[in-house]
Amino acid sequence: TKLLQLNEVHKQYGQDTKALTNVNFTVNSGEFVSIIGPSGAGKSTLLRCINRMIDSSSGDIVFDGQNVNRLKKSELKQLRTRIGMIFQHYNLVERLSVIENVLHGRLGYKSTFAGILGLYSEQEKRQAYAILQMLGLEKQIYKRCDQLSGGQKQRVGIARALIQDPKLLLCDEPIASLDPNASQTIMEHLRSICSSMGITVLVNLHQVDVALKYSDRIIGVNKGEIVYDGLPAGVGPEE
Ligand code: ADP
Ligand code: ADP
Repeated sequence: TKLLQLNEVHKQYGQDTKALTNVNFTVNSGEFVSIIGPSGAGKSTLLRCINRMIDSSSGDIVFDGQNVNRLKKSELKQLRTRIGMIFQHYNLVERLSVIENVLHGRLGYKSTFAGILGLYSEQEKRQAYAILQMLGLEKQIYKRCDQLSGGQKQRVGIARALIQDPKLLLCDEPIASLDPNASQTIMEHLRSICSSMGITVLVNLHQVDVALKYSDRIIGVNKGEIVYDGLPAGVGPEE
């Protein structure tokens, strides 16, 4: 079934930077889709329009039956629980522990940090432990995030998104700051989150080989336009 549909989406920054031009595609529930293309192609802009971190200039973005562009500010918080976001630079609160970062994702970003663990029920904490265990972070639960490796930090980022029980994960260059081993671990986790949990994954990658290896489908973007949409096997060497 259809989970996400983009119709004639355009995004322009300022007077003359056309970041997205007439973008059209549909993503079905359970798909693992990689968006590939050179730096500046518009990949990051595309993901940020989908969860309304930024507004597209025109066109429709329909997620789970709702037109994202028409949501009010008060409805955006709810949208972002159903669309998890993973960032290249993790966006963790470094001085807090792993478990606090994960539960913080649940509480929302306006909350105070003081005594955060006391704000949660045992059931919420158990859910956080289970997700962290699944991601191989059981030994890091009470460590501060500034003591973790990059690969561990990214797994905390994934856990923070998963605890919201999202339908869609948007991952913006999730492995661009990681070494090959950590990159492989992250991609395997994303792949299994898609296959076992049924969560749809849309991931920006500049490493074409990685995209081809893990994806059901590839969307190629260049200069704000979609230049390829199909199976990994159809991606030519020029992409
Ligand atoms: P990618 O993620 O593929 O590297 P981006 O979406 O970051 O591409 O950028 C697409 C284009 O939009 C680039 O030309 C970039 O310089 C421009 N751009 C991105 N963000 C902004 C912004 N906040 N203001 C102005 N231009 C931007
Ligand atoms: P990435 O390499 O992850 O795409 P960038 O270094 O291109 O990130 O962009 C970092 C930040 O700067 C982003 O928030 C982006 O929106 C903004 N940005 C990118 N290009 C421009 C631009 N030409 N003018 C203004 N802001 C920009």
